[in-house]
Parts: sequence; structure tokens; C-alpha cells
Amino acid sequence: MALTKEDLELIAEFDEAARDVSSEQIRLLSVILSENTSCEYLRQHRVSDIPTFKDRMPVIDPDVVQPIIQRIADGDPSSLLTNSQITSMIVSSGTSNGRARMVPSTMTSRQILSQRFLLSNAILKREISGNIVGKSLNFIYAGKLQTTKGGLKAGSSSTLHLRSGAHLNSLSQWTSPLGVVLGPNVQQSMYCHLLCGLLQTMDVTVVTSFLAYALTEAFRFLEEVWEELCNDIATGTLSDRVTDVSVRSAVLELLRCDDELAKKIRSECLKGWSSIIKRLWPNVVYIHTIVTGAMEPYVPYLKDYAGNVPIVCGDYGSSECTVGINLNPRAPPDEVIFTLVPYAAYFEFLELDWQEGEKLVDLTNLEIGKEYEIIVTTITGLYRYRLGDVIRITGYYFRLPQFAFARRKNVMLSINTDKTDEKELCEVVKQASARLEAGKMDLLEFTSYADHSSRPGHYTIFWELKGTVFIEDSILQFCCEDLDSSFNDPYQRGRAAGTIGPLELCIVKEGTFYNVMKFVLQSGLSPTQYKTPRCIKCTNQLNILRSSVMKIYTPSH
Ligand code: AMP
Repeated sequence: MALTKEDLELIAEFDEAARDVSSEQIRLLSVILSENTSCEYLRQHRVSDIPTFKDRMPVIDPDVVQPIIQRIADGDPSSLLTNSQITSMIVSSGTSNGRARMVPSTMTSRQILSQRFLLSNAILKREISGNIVGKSLNFIYAGKLQTTKGGLKAGSSSTLHLRSGAHLNSLSQWTSPLGVVLGPNVQQSMYCHLLCGLLQTMDVTVVTSFLAYALTEAFRFLEEVWEELCNDIATGTLSDRVTDVSVRSAVLELLRCDDELAKKIRSECLKGWSSIIKRLWPNVVYIHTIVTGAMEPYVPYLKDYAGNVPIVCGDYGSSECTVGINLNPRAPPDEVIFTLVPYAAYFEFLELDWQEGEKLVDLTNLEIGKEYEIIVTTITGLYRYRLGDVIRITGYYFRLPQFAFARRKNVMLSINTDKTDEKELCEVVKQASARLEAGKMDLLEFTSYADHSSRPGHYTIFWELKGTVFIEDSILQFCCEDLDSSFNDPYQRGRAAGTIGPLELCIVKEGTFYNVMKFVLQSGLSPTQYKTPRCIKCTNQLNILRSSVMKIYTPSH
């Protein structure tokens, strides 16, 4: 669809704000403070204006405000964090450790979010999709909506959006009917997304999911179920695996018997999985999904499925607020940079060696090339709140900082003085798993656990391999040695001193990580936002992994 007048206005407004970021940010902070001076949190910290905010407002971890947010969720009517009416609670994925947390949402925060969606769409149209008309094969799942004790709707941002009906305008642009999106079972909906997409092969111009994980899962699933899908299309009947009545009836309305199409799909699938996206959907223009941060491990798989179809990275945000927008959708996954969205929150930054009581850096004083942790103050009543993400400044768009997502801040694995974060874990696993190719094995998923139950404690790495029948012990033994010898210096010192025990590489049965996901989703988290926890902190998840271990490797020395 071509750029509309509204699109051009949105882009112009953004550029205008980019030229005068400081004023935009100060204006936002004074609105937040003046509207909420009487709320309990600001009174408690004796903050009423910008000077008192800068002087006294403490930097906090999300856990500090969770009890207050819980009181709001339970129905406490007082203005605890904000004077604005809280309309719902966003349940965040908790990102790396799988523990969900709640964040308040208001009418204004929803408006800010939809403004950013519209801006992103306008940028995409300007940069990539131009006048293209077609449909999106969107691997989207509504997830469960819950109600808090105080009567507020609670769910992930996408769940709240999808279940509010606000997306009904987009429905005609998706290949799947509403019944599939709202379906209660992820695997059944995934099957139907594929089926509906295949029934409209010539219409699909975009293949998308919120996170790269969902897209990779969908294509791995296609590898398993393609014959069943072809059979459905050839016969005009729907597989028995789809048992949910509303999902079935939504798909049956669309399903027709098309033997020619089934033959074409079958012949493409028989050729293998590289470039399958373009071969099945010849008119696809781009793939849209988040490929940065925790999604990086999925990029090689996605690239293989994608062939030469460009992968456009989605924006960067969290349940708390939007942070960055991707102004250059043509950038390849490893070169993605985001531009700060100045109206989304009041942003401050911490140097990585920041200590309590030291000054925060504002967005006019950031240094190119340096890493910072992001602190946000939002319209929904979060003040100097640590998002837990580290970014690296790469440049400026007018006066707006541009940055690459560096990593999650949290230390994930630690036995002694060693501290291994998500980024390092992903890199070590990536290097060690490169050996798998020689044995025609493929790493599907991984996670880790700092096992303190034995003395000394040790790292456990769980791997799920594709087609586990082909396990080659000697290669996996090498992988295990590589893992153990590649972690950081403090880890190596601990290993040499015997204060850290030998690493365990556990190979789990195929499907184990799907069971971990099913378990995490029971807590109400939306499948759309699910990220595999890279470090296990929850006993139930650990039990699922441990009970599925097929083989354990430990280093020989
Ligand atoms: P949630 O609150 O569940 O939506 O998770 C938000 C977190 O997901 C952020 O704090 C980031 O750590 C991560 N995230 C979201 N978008 C991106 C992105 N485009 N690139 C990298 N990480 C992202």
C-alpha cells in the first residue's frame, strides 16, 4: 500500500522531534511529574518536579515495584504510582529467566504504542513495501487473557491487543482467520497458519511473527507436517490433529480441494528446506520479525529458510515501553540499529560500572561506541526503572541516539566469581555447536543451569538436537570440551582451582523444549512473546529438562 498523507505526517513529526530531542524529553518528564505529584510513590520520595526528580529519585530494579503493582492488580483504589486510570496489566515475558512480571497500562500508553506501530508501518512502506498489495502470513497467537483480583484484564501486550478486537482492521491482510489467531492450542494454530498460508500461496507478500523463535518453530514444524498439509489441500479435509471446534470451523470455511496446489507444494517440499519460503510463496517481498538479542541464535535457520528474501528486523520495545524503532528495514540482521523513540518514555542511561548514588547520563551526553544500561521513566508510573538491557551507541539520527542492542544485563550463570551473561552463553554455544555439522547433527534449542547441588557447583548445558537418532558421541564429547574451555577467564580460573566443577552437556529428547514452552505458557504468557529461557531458574522447567535427558557428556579432564 502506498504512503498516505497520515504516514508522511507521522514521519515528519518524528523527524521534528528528532531535531529537538532534549525539549521533547524534558516536556515529557514534566508532564509525567506534574500529572502524578500527588501519587504515593512520588510523595514518598519527595519528588515533585524535575530538579527533585534528578536529585532524589532512586534507580530501581523491577522487583522493587512489583509489590506496589500487585496492590494495584489486587484492586487498591489509591493512586499508588500514577493518577492516570490503569486500564490493564501487561504481563511481560520476564525475558531470560522465564519469570513473568506485571506492568501497568493506561489509555495514553496504548496510544503511544499504536503511534509507534503506525510510524513503523509508514517507514516500512517508505523503505521496502511501497505499492505492494498482498497478505501477511502471520504466525501470531492470541494467548490467554486473565483477570486480576481487582478486576483488571492481564495478559501480554499482544494478547491484550488481540483480545481487545483492536486488530480487526488488520484481519483482512492476514492469511489466517480470527479463529486460528484466537485458538487455545499453539500447535493446532501453527498448523492452521501454515495451511491457510499455503491455500493462498500467490497472495502472500510478507511472512511474519513477532519474534524469530515463532517463525523458526513454524518452519521446523512444516518440515514435520508438510505431507499432512498437502493431504488436507488435496482432499479438502482438515487433519484430525486440529481438534478445537472454533479453529476447525474457521479453517473449514477457507479450505477447498485443490490437487494441483497440493502437488506443487509437495514437489517444492521434496526439494528440501533451503529457500522454502520463496519457493512456496513466490510473491513474498520480505520477512518481518525480531532477530536481535535473544533471537540471534535463530537467524542462521531463518536465513536458510528465507534464501534471498530479506529479513527485516522488528522494533525494540518491552512491556514497559517502546524503546527503539528500526528506521533502516533493509539492514541485514547483524547490522540492525535502532533509533530511540523520544515520546515513548523519559530515557536515562547508566554507565556499566555505575554505583548507587552516582549520576545518570542523559541522552545528550552519550558517547558513540560505549555501552549503557537503559533506565526509563514512563507515563504509566515507572520511575527510573531498570529495563535490564544494555545497548551500544552507534551514532545519531538528527539528535536522536541510535544504538545496537548489546545484551540483557543480568548475570545468568554464576558458580563462584565467574559471571556469564546471555550474550556470552549464546556465543560459546554457537562456536561449540559448529562441530555438529560434521556429524550431520543440528542444534535446535539450548538452555543452561547453574547447578549448585553438587560441590563444587557446575554449569549444565541442555541441547536438543534435530533427529536425535544420529547422535555421534565423539563429536558431542568434543563439543562438551569446547564449551567447558570457552567460558570467560574467571570461569577458567575456577575450573583450574577446582572451585567450579566440570561442565555437563546434557542431550535431551526431541520435543523437550516444546514441553518447556507449554509449561511456561500455562502461566498465561502469550505464545507470540515466548522466548526460550536461556538460563533455567524454575524447578519445574528444570524437572522437564532433567527427565528428558538421553545422554550426558563431561570433559575428560
Ligand atoms: P517483554 O517485556 O516480554 O516484551 O520483553 C522485553 C524484552 O525483550 C526487552 O527488554 C529486550 O530484552 C527484549 N527485546 C524486545 N525487542 C527486542 C529487539 N528488537 N531486539 C532485542 N531484544 C528485544
